[in-house]
Amino acid sequence: MSTSAAKASAPSREAEFDVDLFVIGGGSGGIRAARVASGHGAKVMLAEEYRLGGTCVIRGCVPKKLFVYASRFSDTFDEAAEFGWRLSVPHFDWPSLVAAKDREITRLERLYGTGQEGAGVEVVRSRAVLEDAHTVRLLEDGRRVRARTILIATGARPELPPFDGIELGITSDGVFDLKTFPRKLVIGGAGYIAMEFAGLFAALGSDVTVVCRGSNVLRGFDEDVRQAVAGSYTNRGIKLMFGDSIRRLERRDGDVGGGDHAGRIDVTTEQGGRLVADQVLLAFGRTPNTTSLGLDRAGVKTGADGAIIVDANSRTNISNIYAVGDVSNQFNLTPVAIREGHAFADSVFGKKAWQVDYSNVPTAVFSSPEIGTVGLTELEARAQYLAVDVYKVRFRPLKAAVTGDCEARLLKVVVDCESDRILGIHIFAEEASEMIQVLAIAVGSGATMKDFMSVMAVHPTVGEEIVAMQTPTVRYDRRDASTPLVPSAAV
Ligand SMILES: Cc1cc2nc3c(=O)[nH]c(=O)nc-3n(C[C@H](O)[C@H](O)[C@H](O)COP(=O)(O)OP(=O)(O)OC[C@H]3O[C@@H](n4cnc5c(N)ncnc54)[C@H](O)[C@@H]3O)c2cc1C
Repeated sequence: MSTSAAKASAPSREAEFDVDLFVIGGGSGGIRAARVASGHGAKVMLAEEYRLGGTCVIRGCVPKKLFVYASRFSDTFDEAAEFGWRLSVPHFDWPSLVAAKDREITRLERLYGTGQEGAGVEVVRSRAVLEDAHTVRLLEDGRRVRARTILIATGARPELPPFDGIELGITSDGVFDLKTFPRKLVIGGAGYIAMEFAGLFAALGSDVTVVCRGSNVLRGFDEDVRQAVAGSYTNRGIKLMFGDSIRRLERRDGDVGGGDHAGRIDVTTEQGGRLVADQVLLAFGRTPNTTSLGLDRAGVKTGADGAIIVDANSRTNISNIYAVGDVSNQFNLTPVAIREGHAFADSVFGKKAWQVDYSNVPTAVFSSPEIGTVGLTELEARAQYLAVDVYKVRFRPLKAAVTGDCEARLLKVVVDCESDRILGIHIFAEEASEMIQVLAIAVGSGATMKDFMSVMAVHPTVGEEIVAMQTPTVRYDRRDASTPLVPSAAV
């Protein structure tokens, strides 16, 4: 007898429910929750309206990282010559990259399918909406499923502010499948998704302009890192237009293939700027997928941003309905969605309740060089602590001595003066994502700066810079009320 058949015939089931758990959305959070709940003996059904794997696998982290890998070869080819390699002129073929990406995400999608099947989860390919607090309707065939518990894991979608001609733009959903490579790319927005695409398309050969409403890129990141990235992108020929935003998109007149700019898009900005693009990527942030989901019929409350409001156990205001991942708009990252799904399933179906710890969530931006960050930024630390030491080093990696690369890398550690505990680490350097993953263990475990200083360096590496820092670059001290929030002295 199959696992699901055994579960279906279990005598303890309440007849009024078809399933113990209905999961809406087969992305990072939903898939983990469904598998773990099923492993705890629950009868689980999961509905996915598009492709199993969700944003991360199909049109987010995974395809993006594959494109980032592709983009980094351009630097590598240049550097190789400095190390004695003689190569013929490399040629980049966009359709080959898209095809390689498609093969990998199709393989992963299949793996997720067999994983769910193997765990005894019934997967339904359909959009699902709520009819009431215990009933889910499958739009594909109109079926109604009664569920004791419902998990909403519908993720988020690109946010699109209204302006004329917006339909001519593409979002991150479409950028992975472009038929032709965009020679001229305009990007609206300067968050991490915008910056990652700006960097990778520029490295692949696009002429990239970023139109950014604010005065710098990557709002929310440490100021030194923001400056370092903006400087690096400018050096690489990426044009950053600050204090401006896209007002209108218009298709250029003329037959495709006719003139130089035929078929292209005219971009007009609020400040009167005029640009011409092959593609306009709209990366203004993401909004929770809660529209037309039947939340009102079930009585589930949302916040002003449309996100489902949940407590520390991912529970909504309706006691049998939970929500995990981007749909609750807290930390919109794959590992967070996965952990929330896992905690929910263990707590509700596994008799072992636990909550996700959101302190010190590490994150990366896959620019080149990369950003790795964990904990508080310098400004956050200075607002929350009385006295803060900032250790900062700018350096060039050994490889740059041969390649002639002049770009400064940055390592920054923010420390609470009173306890010597590390509050935050911010890196702009090669492999920053890998470094920050490991450093987050130390920060989460309450490591002090003294702990870091006592560790032996691994030489020659980029990471050794972090244990080589011996004196703070600057101290901000508010313990003396006469000097609030300004550097007391360069220590
Ligand atoms: C371009 C891009 C790059 C990213 N890069 C990173 C990264 O490097 N690292 C990182 O940690 N995070 C990254 N993210 C964020 C990450 O993808 C999300 O945080 C993560 O996928 C959220 O998981 P989730 O389960 O909440 O939602 P999702 O993975 O979005 O899954 C939701 C699923 O629900 C389905 N669905 C929606 N409504 C319904 C319905 N009514 N019925 C049935 N199915 C429905 C959707 O089709 C989707 O498959 C990136 C995102 C983007 C867009």
